[in-house]
Amino acid sequence: MHHATFATPDLTSFCRLDELGLTVVGQRLESDQAVIECRLTAPDPWCRRCGAEATSRGTLTRRLAHEPFGHRPTTLLLRVRRYRCEHCGRTWREDTSRAASERAKLSRGGLRWALAAIVIDHLTVSRVAAGLGVSWHTANSAVLAEGRRVLVDDPARFDGVTTIGVDEHVWRHTRHGDTFVTVIIDLTPNRTGTGPARLLDMVPGRSKAVFKTWLANRPKSWRDMVDVVAMDGFTGFKTAATEELPDAVPVMDPFYVVRLAGDALDQCRRRVQQHLHGHRGRATDQLYRARRTLHTGADFLTDKQHARLHAVFRTEEHVEVEAMWGIYQRMITAYRHPDKSTVPPPRWSSSDASAGPSPNASATSSRSSTAPARPTAPPRPSTDASNTSAAQRSGSATSPTTSPAACSNPAASNPTYPLKCDEPSNSEAYDVGIRPILSDK
Ligand SMILES: [Zn+2]
Repeated sequence: MHHATFATPDLTSFCRLDELGLTVVGQRLESDQAVIECRLTAPDPWCRRCGAEATSRGTLTRRLAHEPFGHRPTTLLLRVRRYRCEHCGRTWREDTSRAASERAKLSRGGLRWALAAIVIDHLTVSRVAAGLGVSWHTANSAVLAEGRRVLVDDPARFDGVTTIGVDEHVWRHTRHGDTFVTVIIDLTPNRTGTGPARLLDMVPGRSKAVFKTWLANRPKSWRDMVDVVAMDGFTGFKTAATEELPDAVPVMDPFYVVRLAGDALDQCRRRVQQHLHGHRGRATDQLYRARRTLHTGADFLTDKQHARLHAVFRTEEHVEVEAMWGIYQRMITAYRHPDKSTVPPPRWSSSDASAGPSPNASATSSRSSTAPARPTAPPRPSTDASNTSAAQRSGSATSPTTSPAACSNPAASNPTYPLKCDEPSNSEAYDVGIRPILSDK
């Protein structure tokens, strides 16, 4: 944004009220809420019956929960003009349907925010209700009604879907446990770069049966079109997808893969820590102090972090952490690579997983292939990564084993470069918790 131009500050457009046909005429800011007073931008004084121009006979107010700005709920105090035609006696009030549907307690902007908060940001209904400053039931009914309107009224929403995502959300926390809902999203636009993901459906419950039933209820022609199913680590979804969409490739959302890899790195670090020092990490322990730096992408390390890692990896007893770090770095590098078609996300077959995560990336260059993962050249890091890693490599030249650079940047010059991350002597040492739920079997 080198040539950004600035307009005059304007609360109406900032709050996106112009989209609702409203103009701000006042504000009342309190510590726990903001009230925006507004009127309809276009007055409607013309009598529908006789065409005469009427005069306003005062206003009535309507309160609408709008999208919050920050954590402070924003309420619209809408002053709606009433008219009475002097000529024929007809009375009416201004049409507020652009701002909110009839009798709704949420503005259309508030509703849009609530739906996105639940579906995209994984907020609970309670949190959404708090954000809007309304009761749980108000938020819940509004979101359900909007979801139904958006989904049911658009039968074409299932057209052209080739990639779906399935995820679970806590719909409501109760004393008796949480209520879950399964959300199915169309990720095709993400994959083809044609737009954002779309909500396809929401089904109460979270189980293999819920997703399997939903899939089974789709026409076979539709199921045949789906070639990728993205999901979190819940095995029930994986099983349901395998049974109902046998030709589709189940993949794990990068968020969960990276989180699992990060957890594995932490587990490895804690275990080595415990083994060497006989106690959990303390503020004075080198490994413990490097816990966050270990998670930082190699491309983004500051000089200080570089030195800290170098110091950690110089200790021979930390070799397992170093190897694990290399694998972790390769994974996040692969996900950051701009050309996803040449860098497949690392996957492990079940045999690999049982012996520890052998860092063999799948030979398949496309997620849509159904070939089993097999050892081949690892993902090629970007140029930037290779530069950084080169520095890292020289920095860890004294390391008695494979340098992290060799793990994270094995193929910069030679695509058939064999990985030298040593096999763990103790397979449990590398049991990183990544289960082969995404293997193609
Ligand atoms: Zn009239």
